[in-house]
Amino acid sequence: ELRVRFAPSPTGYLHIGGARTALFNYLLAKKEAGSFILRIEDTDVARSTQESVDAILNAMQWLGLSCDEGPFYQSDRFDLYQQKVQQLLDEGKAYRCYCTPEELDEKREKAKRDGLKPKYDGTCRRRTDQPDAPYVVRFKLPEDRAETVFVDQIKGSITFRHEELDDLIIQRTDGTPTYNFVVVIDDAEMGINLVIRGDDHINNTPRQILLYEALGYPVPQFAHVPMILGADKKRLSKRHGATSVMAYKEMGYLPEALVNYLVRLGWSFGDEEIFSMDELIEKFSLKNVGRSAGVFNPEKLLWLNSHYIKTGDPQRLAELVTPFLQQKGIDVVKGPDLVAVVKSLQERSGTLVEMADGAEFYYADPVVYQEKAKTKFLKPEQKYMFEIIYEKLDSCDVFSEEKLEAVFADIMAVTEVKFGKIAQPLRVALTGGVPSPGIYEILQVLGKGVSLQRIDQALN
Ligand code: GLU
Repeated sequence: ELRVRFAPSPTGYLHIGGARTALFNYLLAKKEAGSFILRIEDTDVARSTQESVDAILNAMQWLGLSCDEGPFYQSDRFDLYQQKVQQLLDEGKAYRCYCTPEELDEKREKAKRDGLKPKYDGTCRRRTDQPDAPYVVRFKLPEDRAETVFVDQIKGSITFRHEELDDLIIQRTDGTPTYNFVVVIDDAEMGINLVIRGDDHINNTPRQILLYEALGYPVPQFAHVPMILGADKKRLSKRHGATSVMAYKEMGYLPEALVNYLVRLGWSFGDEEIFSMDELIEKFSLKNVGRSAGVFNPEKLLWLNSHYIKTGDPQRLAELVTPFLQQKGIDVVKGPDLVAVVKSLQERSGTLVEMADGAEFYYADPVVYQEKAKTKFLKPEQKYMFEIIYEKLDSCDVFSEEKLEAVFADIMAVTEVKFGKIAQPLRVALTGGVPSPGIYEILQVLGKGVSLQRIDQALN
């Protein structure tokens, strides 16, 4: 059975790169009927916060990434880690290192001067005494082999020469265990057999493999997902725009658009672009994950978002757009049916923010005329035409497309004014002059009462 995990460090919000890693894990677990485990890596007590934990859990929930087991917290597991440190010490696979930070600095400086790669020289490996002084615990780099090789499911075979490595610190002076050590214990104890994570962890992998072996655990498979880059081919950062998942929610993106976008960025299935979560679960495989970094393309994300807004269920969109309307102080109780409003705006909204902006005029009371729109209507010679419009609409019982067409034919006949010259000022009267849907649609959504009231406002 496949067992995968997502293991974020709660030192900030959920980054879209992290979200993509979580997604790959989730999709594969679902596809293979395996288990997706969530583990919060909060061993770095100084940098981990409950706020970040909540932010990460919220973002995962918003994206629809529910886990089968967890969340587990590393901070609850310190006893286990301590036990494993002791095990390695007892077996002579680890040792206490008393070198002070100053001594280590000095050694590092010297290595640099000698043109060598700075790495721990193993002074305390050979020590036999146990001074009463602060110490870290180091893992003895095994000397029975010159290299560690693993076959990455995405990147292929990767070899690390041991001469690149040194004796890894597994426990800090304050007694807390370090990332490379606990990640191995947890992945092993949680039965993880495939580790899918960002390729910034590739360099940690040989160290971790050596730890699996030293602790007597089976070594899992690894799949390292390439980073996401900005347009300038530099690692995606705030300079390139929002990198937090929840910032996209706030900008009015739908979770299905972000999911679709993030998976497609780094994975492909022929030329297809649009995938629902179910299709992703069916089609996803590591085989089609690219080896090189994907470049984040905000226009494409926006395009996908427009697609999901266009094709979305109006009822659900109405619910999703409501907080954005509330932010603008729009009270939808007093005004046209929100679902009808949403339907009229789906075609023209790239985001929920745009939809909320577009919805504003429907709920305005009174209508606020745009400065430049004022010049286009409210001219004295239009008064007569507006009176006719009012009268004809007033005598129209239902605002169906068909009936409205007849009403406009009638208005044109009576006023001898062309359709465009009627519709344009009427649109201003109804909307204030903002970009808006077709005139019949506006009339239908506003309904007769509000439409007449707005024409009346224009007349007075
Ligand atoms: N906690 C690590 C991070 O946030 C992830 C480690 C891993 O996936 O092995 O980068």
